[in-house]
Amino acid sequence: MTFDITPTAAQHDLARRAHQFAEEVVRPVAADYDQRQEFPWPVLEEAATRGFYSPLFYRDLIGDPTGLSLPMFMEELFWGCAGIGLAVVMPALALSAIGQAASPEQMLQWAPECFGTPGDLKLAALAISEPEGGSDVRNLRTTARRDGDDWIIDGHKMWIGNGGIANVHVVNANVDPELGHKGQALFIVPGGTPGLDMVRKLDKLGCRASHTAELKFTGVRIPGDYLLGGAEKLEHKLAKAREAVEGGQHSGSATLGALEQTRPMVAAQALGITRAALEYATEYANNREAFGAPIIDNQGIAFPLADLATQLDAARLLTWRASWMAATGVRFERGEGSMSKLAATELAVRTTERAIQTMGGYGYIKDHPVEKWYRDAKLYTIFEGTSEIQRMVISNALGAAAGKPPLHVDLEPSGGPLNRYFGRGTPLRGRAADAALGAKDRVPEPIMQMAMKVLRPPRK
Ligand SMILES: Cc1cc2nc3c(=O)[nH]c(=O)nc-3n(C[C@H](O)[C@H](O)[C@H](O)COP(=O)(O)OP(=O)(O)OC[C@H]3O[C@@H](n4cnc5c(N)ncnc54)[C@H](O)[C@@H]3O)c2cc1C
Repeated sequence: MTFDITPTAAQHDLARRAHQFAEEVVRPVAADYDQRQEFPWPVLEEAATRGFYSPLFYRDLIGDPTGLSLPMFMEELFWGCAGIGLAVVMPALALSAIGQAASPEQMLQWAPECFGTPGDLKLAALAISEPEGGSDVRNLRTTARRDGDDWIIDGHKMWIGNGGIANVHVVNANVDPELGHKGQALFIVPGGTPGLDMVRKLDKLGCRASHTAELKFTGVRIPGDYLLGGAEKLEHKLAKAREAVEGGQHSGSATLGALEQTRPMVAAQALGITRAALEYATEYANNREAFGAPIIDNQGIAFPLADLATQLDAARLLTWRASWMAATGVRFERGEGSMSKLAATELAVRTTERAIQTMGGYGYIKDHPVEKWYRDAKLYTIFEGTSEIQRMVISNALGAAAGKPPLHVDLEPSGGPLNRYFGRGTPLRGRAADAALGAKDRVPEPIMQMAMKVLRPPRK
C-alpha cells in the first residue's frame, strides 16, 4: 500500500460525519463540561448512537490499510473539544493495549465490555503510570503474584483516564521485577473488584471533561485467565527475557509497543486543537479592527498565523505518515511515531498561545474558547510520553540509524519491476525523449503527438 493522501469515499464521509458530531454535539457543551469538570455521559450516548463508540468501529479504523481513517477521525472529534474527545476515545486506548497482548478469545470477551451499547454504555481505562514513574515505565512498582489459579495485584496508579469508574481496567504490573519492563504483564481488573479503590478524582488544568484518577490496588484478586495473553505465553516471554538479560540484550515490551502505536493517534488529537485555535484566531483577526483596519492587515498578526498554518500541514503529514507506517507494518526505525507526537503536540501549545495573543484581552477570558484550548493543549506535551521522552526516542533512533538512508530510499519500491526501467526519470525514458526530439522533423505529426503525450506531466 503506497502512501497516498487522497481520501477514500469512506474516509471522506467519516471525516464529514465526525466533524458534524463535533460541531453539533460537542462544541456547544464543551465550555460547560470544562467549567463543571463533569463526565459527559450524554455526549458519549450520542457518540454511541452515531456509531463512534464501539469496539468494531475502532478495530475497523485500526485495520484500515491506509492508516488514515483514525487520524482523520481524531482530528475532527478533537476540533470539537479535547476533554470530551478523550472521554469518547479512552476505551480505544485500552482496546489497543488489549489488542497487543490478548488472545483472540480474550479480545472477544473484553472488547465489548470496554464500550457497552447505546443505553448501556461501559468505560475502559489503561492504567500504566504510577506516582513514582510516569516516563520511566521500566521502573513501575505495581506487582502481580500468583496465588493458586488466581493473580493478586498490589500497587498504586496515578493519572488514570476513566480510572475507578471504568468497567474494564487494563493494568500493567510486574510479575518478575528483576527483568525490568520485560517482567511486566497486562491484566484485566473489572471495575468494582474488591481492593481496587479510587483514591481521588484529579482536579486538572485542562481536558476537564475527561475523568482522571489516582487508584490503589490492595490485594486485588483476579482469576488466572484475566492475564492478557495467558500463562503459557507469559512463561515463554519471561524465559526469553531471562535469556536476553543473561546475554546482555534489550528488546521492547507490549506496553511500550502499545504506546508507540498510539502516538500518531495522540498527535492527530493535537492537530484538532491546533486547527480549532488557528481557525478561530484567523476569523477574529479578520473581523477585529484596530487603528481603522482589521488587525489581520498587520504582518505582526498575519505572519505568525501563516507560520502556524504551514506547521499544521507539516505536522499532519508527519502524523499521517506515522499512521500509514503503523498500518502497513513499516517499523518506526527513525522515531517516526515520536516525531509526529512531538511536532503536533508542541504545535498545539504554540498555536493556542498565539490564538490568545491574537485576540488580546478577549483571548484571555472565558467569553471565547481559546483560553480553554490553551489549557487543553498543554496536556499533550505531557501524557503518552512527554516531549522530552519523544526527543529521547528520536535521538536514540538517530544514533541507531546512523549511516542508514532516509526512509523513502530505504522503503521497498512500489510500481512493479518494469517501473525501474520505464518509470519517470529513468535513463530509457530520457533516451526516448532525446530520440523523439531529434527525429521531430522526420516523424509524422500524429505519432509525435502520441510520444509527447507519454512524456508530458500528468494533467487534470
Ligand atoms: C491528564 C492526564 C491524563 C493521563 N492519562 C493517563 C492514562 O490514562 N494512563 C496512564 O497510564 N497514564 C496517564 N497519564 C500519565 C502520563 O503519561 C505521565 O504523567 C507522563 O508519562 C509523565 O510522567 P510523570 O508525570 O511521572 O513525569 P516524570 O516522568 O516524573 O517527568 C518529569 C519531567 O522530567 C522529564 N524527564 C523524565 N525523564 C527524563 C529523561 N530521561 N530525559 C529528559 N527529561 C526527562 C519529563 O519529560 C518531565 O518534563 C496521564 C497524565 C495526565 C496529566
